[in-house]
Amino acid sequence: MTANEIRESFKKFFEQKQHAIVPSAPMVIKDDPTLMFTNAGMNQWKDIILGTRDPEPRRRADTQKCLRVSGKHNDLEEVGHDTYHHTMFEMLGNWSFGDYFKEGAIDMAWEYLVDVLKLNPADLYVTVFEGSPEENIPRDDEAAKYWAKHVPEDHIINGNKHDNFWEMGDTGPCGPCSEIHVDSRTPEQKAASGKTGRELVNQDDPQVIEIWNLVFMQFNRKADGSLEKLSMNVIDTGMGFERLVRMMQGKHSNYDTDVFQPIIKAEQDITGLKYFTFEEETETPISKDQDNINVAMRVCADHLRAVAFSIADGQLPSNAKAGYVIRRILRRAVRYAYTFLGQKDGFLYKLVPTLVHEMGDAFPELKAQQQLITKVIKEEEDSFLRTLDKGIGMLDKAMEEMKSKGDKELNGEQAFRLFDTYGFPLDLTELICRENGFTVNEEQFNVEMQKQKERARNAAAVENSDWVELKAGEQKFVGYDYSEYECEILRYRKVTQKKNEFYEIVLTATPFYGEMGGQVGDQGVLVSENETIEVIDSKRENGQTVHIVKQLPKDLTAAFMACVDTDKRDASAANHTATHLLDYALKQVLGDHVEQKGSFVSPDTLRFDFSHFEKVSDEQLREVERMVNDMIRQDLPRDEHRDMPMEEAKKLGAIALFGEKYGDKVRVMRFGPSCELCGGIHATSTGRIGFFKILSESSVAAGIRRIEATTGKDCEERLYQMEDILKNIKSFFNNAKDLQGVIQKYIDEHDAMKKQIEGFQAQAVERAAQRLVEKARIMNGVKVVAGVVPMSPAGAKDLAFKIRAAVEGSLLCVIGSHDNNKPQLSIMMSDDMVSDHGLNAGQMVREAAKLIQGGGGGQPHFAQAGGKNVDGLSAAIDKVVELANL
Ligand code: ATP
Ligand code: MG
Repeated sequence: MTANEIRESFKKFFEQKQHAIVPSAPMVIKDDPTLMFTNAGMNQWKDIILGTRDPEPRRRADTQKCLRVSGKHNDLEEVGHDTYHHTMFEMLGNWSFGDYFKEGAIDMAWEYLVDVLKLNPADLYVTVFEGSPEENIPRDDEAAKYWAKHVPEDHIINGNKHDNFWEMGDTGPCGPCSEIHVDSRTPEQKAASGKTGRELVNQDDPQVIEIWNLVFMQFNRKADGSLEKLSMNVIDTGMGFERLVRMMQGKHSNYDTDVFQPIIKAEQDITGLKYFTFEEETETPISKDQDNINVAMRVCADHLRAVAFSIADGQLPSNAKAGYVIRRILRRAVRYAYTFLGQKDGFLYKLVPTLVHEMGDAFPELKAQQQLITKVIKEEEDSFLRTLDKGIGMLDKAMEEMKSKGDKELNGEQAFRLFDTYGFPLDLTELICRENGFTVNEEQFNVEMQKQKERARNAAAVENSDWVELKAGEQKFVGYDYSEYECEILRYRKVTQKKNEFYEIVLTATPFYGEMGGQVGDQGVLVSENETIEVIDSKRENGQTVHIVKQLPKDLTAAFMACVDTDKRDASAANHTATHLLDYALKQVLGDHVEQKGSFVSPDTLRFDFSHFEKVSDEQLREVERMVNDMIRQDLPRDEHRDMPMEEAKKLGAIALFGEKYGDKVRVMRFGPSCELCGGIHATSTGRIGFFKILSESSVAAGIRRIEATTGKDCEERLYQMEDILKNIKSFFNNAKDLQGVIQKYIDEHDAMKKQIEGFQAQAVERAAQRLVEKARIMNGVKVVAGVVPMSPAGAKDLAFKIRAAVEGSLLCVIGSHDNNKPQLSIMMSDDMVSDHGLNAGQMVREAAKLIQGGGGGQPHFAQAGGKNVDGLSAAIDKVVELANL
């Protein structure tokens, strides 16, 4: 079976078991402060598991794009070195929210693997939780009993808390789990090893690996560590797609399947190097160098997928947060390609066509954005390769120094600086050092690393207390229809962040729009009969608005009126609507490739990032502005559809964003020709925007432009400011009617006068040169030209050079000049004064400048010094002549 067929068979199997087949959520998570990337299939169901979202339909299944490179699951360092961990992989999963539990999950998993896919049961082993006496949880005999229906006792293995007890986080849903492992060793390997598959389960053997984990959520962990029963039992299963494909295709490495082979083939074609599959490796043992090539090819094939999918999901490499994680993955691939595949120029971007060819049908977002993905990867590669070059230069210098001092070891601080500034991981530094006969002080490096980690931890520490539940139920959002609403508090908790304390409140009903989709959260107040509490911000978490307050109300059970600050909200709404019009106009003016890549909307400003491959010209910007303002003047009414089926919305031509999570029912927001899927707060009609003005257009990353703009009242204020400035300028020119003409005339006059002055100055220099040369003395065969003249420092320099050109033979020229009461001493000599008389103008000027209370320097034949005391000039000149000792 091909990978695509296996994916389809999974979906079909669970569909037949009454599961709703749902799409993968985006891999990049945008609205969850606790998680940057989807790292398991269950992430998108967190709200349901926590009880804040409707669990219907209760049976679901999907394939989910996951990324495990940060936080709780971080497989990055393994990837490429082993053959079964990836950064990005697909997780096949099925869920039951309060429907079937352990028996159903176990039976279905078995039926799928053994009856449908025909995996050999003799090679399958399962684990069950051994129990935890200190937490008073017994062994999971229940799961063991159901497994015993399918496998012999010696294929059921007890597992510890680490492997067989799953927790969502420090707090929240948790429970025992059961893993299915496959012994995929060849008969020869089995015979040679002398160990049974059972003995190798969970022992990091690359041929006895876990493929499917069935999680049985039945507890909720509280902040004090205690467990309580969950109100609804949940089944959450996850099976690694690439591992399953490998089992089904009889391979022994994920990279030998049709998921990766086409990319690896392209790598071989480009580099001219060979990749050894598991079979080839078994036949001919490979050298260390060839192994490095194998690892590097796996790293690049894997990382290419992770990076390309992130970009398609709207997450570009950058310097912070999720963007930085992506940048690090990409750089890891570049290093391997650079070090082991000899790729000194961009390499990964050349693999994009193969990736798109292989996966573009299953994931259309790749195909649609191929150009952007290629461009971003290439630019990142180029810029990192330049950094690598600089880092290598720095390392070369360090080694040079060590050589001269006779040191053999690079100190850890330097190694850390290379890591921190140039992205050199320790192994690369060590590799280069080793090649040159040096070692690296690893201990020091680790100390520096530890220090940095602590700095980061201290900066980010957030402590959440348990939610205190005052009432049961879910929060109702009424913000699309109301800006004030009656409510009570459902629950609250205390949050401590960098010693700041505040509270988060969830209400029975709220008109507050929590920060989401680029629109900032509403502010406002909670008012009861006796008090008013300020809501300083609101954000969206697990599908609910969380209100942030500095202090809790004294009476927590009072009835409140939740009131949104409507001035701010209206301004945000106008900006948000303007963003939609801008998006529409950009597509009209620049073309259909324009795709939203981020936006920020607040009461004061709006920002819109989009894909486009060159600077937007001034004319194009003006055209966009005209189009948007035209739509504003048409006062197009808001046409909102709250629960439109996705299919219908698509027919309307609604713009959906790549990397955004949408349900079956969507909210469609239309203003005339602009039609988008959007959950934000919008103006009731475009006329409310008032006016639209672009403030700037710039580049944020390769292939991504940013427009900042403003609307309504802010435009009005800016117009007044501009008018005032213009008025002031006019008043400088006697309120001339033709201001531009008048200013141009002034500029022309200014230029002409400047030329004239330069002419006068040149004449003055000429005359002074003549005069001084005429007065020259001859001392011991040397012509001494000296005198005090009123002149600028630049003029004096000119003068000195004129004199040198005019005088033949040995010359000592000393000029004291003054300009605006500032003295300047200049010495100019003919070359023979330096070579034959051993004089040095620099030294002489320093000595003599003391007499004008100044200092300076220069070359042996010409030097200048400035000072403070004009009256000392004559004495200084005499001093120079004296120092010449003629
Ligand atoms: P392992 O111990 O092999 O790292 P895990 O315990 O981290 O696996 P789970 O968190 O239970 O795995 O994830 C469910 C399934 O997803 C696993 O059984 C495995 O098939 C797959 N999986 C997990 N991590 C990866 C990865 N980095 N690359 C590919 N597949 C993975
Ligand atoms: Mg793992």
